[in-house]
Amino acid sequence: MPERKVYVIPCSGIGKASASVGRQATYRVVEELLPEKADTMCLALLTLEDPGAQEKVRENWVVAIDGCAKDCARKNVEAAGKPPEIAHRVQDYMKKHKNLKPQAVLDIGEEGKKLVELISQELAEEIDVLLKGGERK
Ligand code: SF4
Repeated sequence: MPERKVYVIPCSGIGKASASVGRQATYRVVEELLPEKADTMCLALLTLEDPGAQEKVRENWVVAIDGCAKDCARKNVEAAGKPPEIAHRVQDYMKKHKNLKPQAVLDIGEEGKKLVELISQELAEEIDVLLKGGERK
């Protein structure tokens, strides 16, 4: 049986800077911080009910990162077969760290980049804890 991975799935919001932050934090985790343990997938595959993507969700651990309270990533993961083991909203981090406000969708600016770093470091730690815990929910 192939080793399980953690799929970090950000929402695909194109009109909110918070969604841009979520996607950049996802890439930081899967490409740089935990490349051996984490991967991502296009949320549209779940929206389109792609059977391969749905199976990956059911057979692996999943982290959903949403830009706002509409929770598009989390809801699509749930619709694919199970709730994500970890779910966060970038807007919640922004409420907690009011000094880190992303500038715009295409250029999140220096504060946005700091927010990406903060979120990705916290996520990497949470994923490590999840993996050490062993069993999925
Ligand atoms: S969670 Fe919010 S920002 Fe992300 S795609 Fe949905 S509406 Fe857009």
